[in-house]
Amino acid sequence: MSFKSLGLSEPLLKAIAKKGYETPSPIQTKAIPPILEGKDVLASAQTGTGKTAGFTLPLLYLLSEHPKEKYRPIRALILTPTRELAAQVYANVKEYGEFLNLRSAVIFGGVNQNPQVAAIRQGIDILVATPGRLLDLENQGALSLKRVEIFVLDEADRMLDMGFLRDIERVMNLMPSKRQNLMFSATFSKDIKKLAYSILKNPVQVDATPENTAVEIIEQRVYRVAKNKKTELIIKLISEGNWKQVLVFTRTKHGANKLCKKMVNAGITASAIHGNKSQGARTKALADFKRGTTRVLVATDIAARGLDIPLLPHVINFELPNISEDYVHRIGRTGRAGASGEAISLVSADETTYLQSIEKLTGLQIPVEIVEGFEPDPNASTEPIKQGQNRSKRQPRNSNSSSRKSNSGSHRNDNRNRNRRRNTNRR
Ligand code: AMP
Repeated sequence: MSFKSLGLSEPLLKAIAKKGYETPSPIQTKAIPPILEGKDVLASAQTGTGKTAGFTLPLLYLLSEHPKEKYRPIRALILTPTRELAAQVYANVKEYGEFLNLRSAVIFGGVNQNPQVAAIRQGIDILVATPGRLLDLENQGALSLKRVEIFVLDEADRMLDMGFLRDIERVMNLMPSKRQNLMFSATFSKDIKKLAYSILKNPVQVDATPENTAVEIIEQRVYRVAKNKKTELIIKLISEGNWKQVLVFTRTKHGANKLCKKMVNAGITASAIHGNKSQGARTKALADFKRGTTRVLVATDIAARGLDIPLLPHVINFELPNISEDYVHRIGRTGRAGASGEAISLVSADETTYLQSIEKLTGLQIPVEIVEGFEPDPNASTEPIKQGQNRSKRQPRNSNSSSRKSNSGSHRNDNRNRNRRRNTNRR
């Protein structure tokens, strides 16, 4: 299968070649043809599968084929949950559309709206947006969605996690009812299916989760450890392993800041990325991390969503997420584009039930190791931490994430079993 045989036009093929893509990924092979036929599509695909090109390429094709008007109304709207994802999707729209005469803009909160409004005023065909800023600018009369022909809802599951359901409904009411709808989601809960039912008309369903998804191909390991020894253990693992590019997940913004500070104190270059950071700080942190100036990026789930970091060798869960699907998203950051990756989780007694839920969801038993000097506390309660079990509407917020100093020790494998696959049905 080639991009050409999918029916894409020369300007798009040229842009694809420039990006260096040789063959379409499974999601692209499955999603592009029905989108080109003008059908609604419901796609199951997580970040790293090439889903962005999967909807952007046919969208660009359709818009470039249909006549443009002098006054350019917004004809395609791509809605994403986070600023980072919006920025990345926009970058892709620009790259893939380089040889087409189409205009696009991106809008998201946390930055001055004036340049965004000015960009829209020039007349654009494609708008990439996060819900809050989109509704805000529409409300101000700075944009209209009355001429939208193609609507893309990207990472729909994350949208719901972040409490954007009402906003999505508001956005839908601003668009004409006759339009093409594309919805992408990594997971399919009852709520997602309900949302899909309300947005899509006779959708073609494509499931491009490859047989060997991240969950099976990524080397996973759990270190059982006392809660107050996690920080020292993570510093030891990164330092002694001489790991150069490590994405670390914490459950809270506060936890991310605190861990980041301790890493820096230990001589490891690190920065934190979360919702309380300004857009500028987040962009810089990500750029430094990609460039290799910063070894460790400490992130919360929401901030990390959609980050395009190719060939990431190490992901560490400093704390397990209380939502099992987030574990799959997190470890999906490794082993992209065929590269191997390693996902490590530091698990204290109070996270035992989270670990059990993750193993149930993924159908994998994750090998457990204990590092000498960092043994789990045998007296610690396995009761899940109480604070912040539920996500609030917009700001996911969870428990505290502290770790303190302890003694060091040598490394011992308690269990060298490879991941064992129990079943493949993870959804
Ligand atoms: P996405 O899932 O859209 O975030 O894409 C993940 C990564 O795969 C991005 O770095 C894309 O540039 C890259 N990519 C997308 N399509 C292809 C392809 N057909 N061949 C190789 N890489 C691709």
